[in-house]
Amino acid sequence: MKILVINAGSSSLKYQLYDMTDESVLAKGLVERIGMDSSIVTHKPAGRADVTEVSEILEHTTAIRKVLGLLTSPEHGVIGSVDEIEAVGHRVVHGGEYFGESAVVDSDVKSKIRQLFDLAPLHNPASMMGIKAAEANMPNIPQVVVFDTAFHQSMPEHAYLYAIPRVLYKKHKVRRYGAHGTSHDYVSQAAAEFLGRPIEDLKIITCHIGNGASITAVKNGRSIDTSMGMTPLEGLMMGTRSGDLDPAIVPFVMNKEELTVNEVNSMLNKHSGLLAISGISSDMREITEGMQNGDANSKLAFDMYEYRLRKYIGSYAAVMNGVDTIVFTAGVGENSVVLREKVCENLTYLGVELDKELNAIRSGEPRRISSANSKVEVLVVPTNEELVIARDTNRLVQGLKS
Ligand code: AMP
Repeated sequence: MKILVINAGSSSLKYQLYDMTDESVLAKGLVERIGMDSSIVTHKPAGRADVTEVSEILEHTTAIRKVLGLLTSPEHGVIGSVDEIEAVGHRVVHGGEYFGESAVVDSDVKSKIRQLFDLAPLHNPASMMGIKAAEANMPNIPQVVVFDTAFHQSMPEHAYLYAIPRVLYKKHKVRRYGAHGTSHDYVSQAAAEFLGRPIEDLKIITCHIGNGASITAVKNGRSIDTSMGMTPLEGLMMGTRSGDLDPAIVPFVMNKEELTVNEVNSMLNKHSGLLAISGISSDMREITEGMQNGDANSKLAFDMYEYRLRKYIGSYAAVMNGVDTIVFTAGVGENSVVLREKVCENLTYLGVELDKELNAIRSGEPRRISSANSKVEVLVVPTNEELVIARDTNRLVQGLKS
């Protein structure tokens, strides 16, 4: 079965075409600047030359038509006809309390995604545009939605509620939902497979640290706590996001600096984190380089980032009454040798012992970076959110057939 995976943003659309017989990627690409003049399509077919095209793409329906054209074109294509695509899987950021798992799209599912626009005003409307665009181009093909929040729906009430008047939860669903669920799900399962142990027996801490960053306590294969909250602002310090802070700072700063709600939101989401502290960049590569060149602000940004990550690891070990495995994933987690080293050198009380040589090896495969004596297995597992979406889509569509 061939499955098209779509990740739609408000002005962008990422795609991957999978052949599920061997889970190979036949082609992938990105449409950028949708709705602006000179949109850019970058198409990467397996075994053929990459292609970049600039044209006017005003909305997502045209973007998908363009992608289907490239997937079937004689020069850049990988399939003979669109009919070879048997299902489409969509990444959707917010599934609220409606979705504890992926779902086949129907009118009820779409209505629920719409009801969640309030909780994810930047993301869910964009996902809906992607779904509608795929339906318009491929009306007879089943569409599946895979939610970033779904994996965390297993969190118990004491972990997902905020200690604020309960009427806010009842009226407005103010609670913690988490994010990056497909990634935490994927890497925790991949870690168990790598170790050759049943996930039901493991206490795993998964650190998804990229531009956005979150950490999850996975006990017996289920998320029991995660660092992102009602929105992806809570938790770890990130590239441009503050992570945890005293909520009283918000009204204080709004008052002192005469900021509007939008301005303070923008400050915390786009002008904080590594960027604010280093004054240089939100990119961990540049922070590390700055630190190694003696820049004090880069070092402070790195230290704060590492310290906060380590605090969460400690608290999740407490939450699970122990930890068997710590997994690093995403851009920083997979690539930053120095961050992993700094975090692990202060986790000896948990029995963590890093093997510095293994930690320095770069590979795209799951690998162990702890020593043979370490009581906790420390792994690097490259994440693959698209593959989770393709697998879920495949499973649900096979279910429709039986
Ligand atoms: P992601 O959001 O998962 O794509 O991660 C993006 C982030 O990964 C970038 O902003 C970088 O900060 C980080 N990153 C990528 N490569 C490296 C590297 N070699 N060392 C440190 N950080 C890296």
